[in-house]
Amino acid sequence: MSTQPIHSPALRHEFTLQGGTGFAMKTLAGQRVHIVNTMGHQVVDTWALTTDGNQCLSMSHTRMALGRINPRENDELVDDLRQPMLRIVYDDSNSTHDTLIPPCDPQRYRLLGHEGHHASCVDNFLMAITPYGYPRPRHVPDALNLFMEVPIDAGGELSLKPSVAPAGSRVVVEALRDLLLVLSACPQDLVAINGADKHPRLIDIFVEDVKISSEAEVLK
Ligand SMILES: [Zn+2]
Repeated sequence: MSTQPIHSPALRHEFTLQGGTGFAMKTLAGQRVHIVNTMGHQVVDTWALTTDGNQCLSMSHTRMALGRINPRENDELVDDLRQPMLRIVYDDSNSTHDTLIPPCDPQRYRLLGHEGHHASCVDNFLMAITPYGYPRPRHVPDALNLFMEVPIDAGGELSLKPSVAPAGSRVVVEALRDLLLVLSACPQDLVAINGADKHPRLIDIFVEDVKISSEAEVLK
């Protein structure tokens, strides 16, 4: 749980991400994005790509860089070349944030017994990056699963638990380079990760605008 105040002098509402849908936005180096769990208990699959699409946020490289499984406030998350991409600058969600579970995909829902189309984080990722001209990857990278609870017991067994993120809680990430941030309010409604009632909920995205030039430069 964070003890730091939210420093947000120029916060503006960017987008409301409906439960089960995806969204992508370009962010500049230094820009901060507030991912607000407006209704509570909603998992948000989170990816970052470099502007040329060649590198992406990597959960395995991030675990190695951090020396642990779950990221915390002030942690730097790295790409597949071990270069910093995102920093978690604020977190009042009391969540552990999973890095182990792959994003849900159509096959996951078929294996759970669902017949016919079901929205998924993989499809949300692919739809979200398309308007930006990014090539369709052969493999969608593992996401940072914000607000997702995946405890590991003493025997190494994983379990999927409902998110504990309270309504109105947030994670603030800072882009450490210019990048494309991709978010999916996970559509999982067959396994109780998005609250015990398995009901995907909306997420609000706020952005802090960055100064393009410093006051000193403006005065020149
Ligand atoms: Zn999902």
